[in-house]
This record gives sequence, C-alpha cells and structure tokens, in this order.
Amino acid sequence: MPKAKIIDGKQFAQRLREGVAVAAADLKTTHGIEARLDVVLVGDDPASHVYVRSKGKQTKEAGMISVEHRLPAAAPEAELLALIDRLNDDEAVNGILVQLPLPDQIDEHKVIAAISPAKDVDGFHVVNVGRLWTGAEAPVPCTPFGCLLLLRDTLGDLKGKRALVLGRSNIVGKPMAALMLAENCTVTIAHSRTIDLPARCREADILVAAVGRPEMVRGDWVKPGAVVIDVGINRVAAPEKGANEDGTPKTRIVGDVAFEEAAKVAGAITPVPGGVGPMTIACLLRNTVIAAARQNGLPVPKV
Ligand code: NDP
Repeated sequence: MPKAKIIDGKQFAQRLREGVAVAAADLKTTHGIEARLDVVLVGDDPASHVYVRSKGKQTKEAGMISVEHRLPAAAPEAELLALIDRLNDDEAVNGILVQLPLPDQIDEHKVIAAISPAKDVDGFHVVNVGRLWTGAEAPVPCTPFGCLLLLRDTLGDLKGKRALVLGRSNIVGKPMAALMLAENCTVTIAHSRTIDLPARCREADILVAAVGRPEMVRGDWVKPGAVVIDVGINRVAAPEKGANEDGTPKTRIVGDVAFEEAAKVAGAITPVPGGVGPMTIACLLRNTVIAAARQNGLPVPKV
C-alpha cells in the first residue's frame, strides 16, 4: 500500500476548467468578448493530432472559440510565418499555439519568435521567458504552471523548501525552476551531466521529474515525506496486456518516476496518467481567457 497522498490532477484540472468557463462566460455576457484560441498544426504526427483535437474540444467545452489551422508536412516555413502574421493582426484571435514538434524544414525558434508575445499562450516567446524570470506578468508555460498549482494545493506555502527539477528543457525544466524560485524555494536544476543524481534528489523536499526516461527516479532517490511531481509521459511495452494484431506488444504509459516504489517513501505524489497531464490543457485555457481580458484592457480574471 502506498503511504503517499496521491495528488489527483484530473479532478484539479476539471475544477480549473470550470473556473475558466465562468471567466469566459463573464467576458462574453458582461463585455461581449468571446475568447478565442487558434491552434496551428503542421504535418501529420499522430500524437500531435490527438493533442490538438483534445485542445479544441476542451476549449469549446469552456465556452471559448477554437479554430484549427492545418498545414501539410511539407509546408515551407514562410507559409507558417505568414499565417502567424495574419493571426497576430486579427483582433478576434486572443491566443496562438503552434503545436510542436515542427517538421525539419521549419525553424522552431523563428516560429515562436514570430508569435505576438501577448498572444503567446504557451509562454515560450523570449519576451515572456524574460518576464517570467524577472517577475513581470506574462503567460506562463502550461505544464510547469500546472505543476505549481498542484504543489500549492498540496503544500500551501512553498517558501524555504528545497526543490529539485530534474530536466532543463525550455518548456518544462527551466520555467518550473523559475516558478519555484518565485515561490521562494531554494532550487536546484539537475540534468544529464549532474553528478550523483540520486543523492541530489534525496535532498529535495519537492522533486519534479521532467526527464523523459521511463521510471528513472527510484524509491530510494526520494526524501521521506517529499512531494514528488512526475511530468514524464513515456510509452512502454506492456506484454502483460497481450499483443496487437501485428504481433507487437500492447503498450502503457508510465512516468519518469517508479511510482510504486516512490509512493512508499514520498509524502505526496502525482500518478501517471492522471497527475500533471490533465493540468496542461487546463492551464492553456486559463492563459487564453487571461490573454483575452488583457488584450481588451480588462482586469485579469481570478482563475
Ligand atoms: P527534453 O527531452 O526536452 O528534456 C529532458 C531533460 O532531461 C534534459 O534537460 C536532459 O538533460 C535531462 N535528462 C535526460 N536524460 C537524463 C539522465 N539520464 N539523467 C539526468 N537528466 C537527464 O524533455 P521535456 O522537458 O520536453 O519533457 C520531459 C518529459 O515530460 C517527457 O517525458 C515528456 O513527454 C513529458 N512532458 C509532459 C507534458 C505534460 O503535459 N504532462 C508536457 C511536456 C512534456 P540535458 O539537458 O543535459 O540533455
């Protein structure tokens, strides 16, 4: 039996989406503004299609307008940049999200830089990254912000906690570190060149794993009583579930943390699936409704 409290991201995300729906309805009825999110998908990566469909569905369920733009896998970079220009100039569009990864002929940095920072609901534009690190108001990357909401809900005040982020990507690790620093944690960022990683992890009151390695963080890496946030989404073979028609084994999703082991030691832990995953889109919807309010000179809704 796990001793840790299991952090229910699914339920938290649902409450957050309900809050966004209230804010979106208020914008519409009080100010006549319909918040709108435009998602751009280039190519036919199956996982990206699933994410984009899910984003569209949840945007509409929250009472906002969802528009999807699809470009072929071979679309030249200039075509995508021209589309972003049009969306930047369109006052009806409040949020622009370009689904990553992009095909090889397109420079991801150039594309992110082309999005108006005010409409950058992913929070990836360098202007918004700079704002985050300097403590200014900005759209914050969705997955790390979702983790922060779960941490606040679990711990209340994070002040003085020793936090370790495992992973230093621009979309998860680095913004996660910035957010916990802003909460007055003492933050360590660990990565593939960190020496004695298990010992560094064991020092942490808050351990956020965003490494993309199935079940890499073992139970004895966790400080007793620590809060463990598992961002990882890894598909692994699950022969116990049987085989597909083509003979390949069925698969299942696991996190970056060996859940069963870690749950015996941690004070609280997010499961995979059902932990951080559902928070990402909920935070995207939150960023969109806030962007719509800001772009219209209205107070930021409390969601
Ligand atoms: P990246 O691959 O961009 O970054 C992985 C990080 O982990 C890098 O900083 C890398 O270090 C570090 N790393 C890799 N191997 C090791 C190792 N053996 N020891 C220590 N550090 C290591 O991944 P992302 O940040 O994009 O994603 C991380 C995970 O989170 C993935 O499983 C992804 O699927 C998941 N994810 C989940 C989301 C959600 O909605 N829940 C959203 C986004 C991501 P270095 O920099 O030195 O190479």
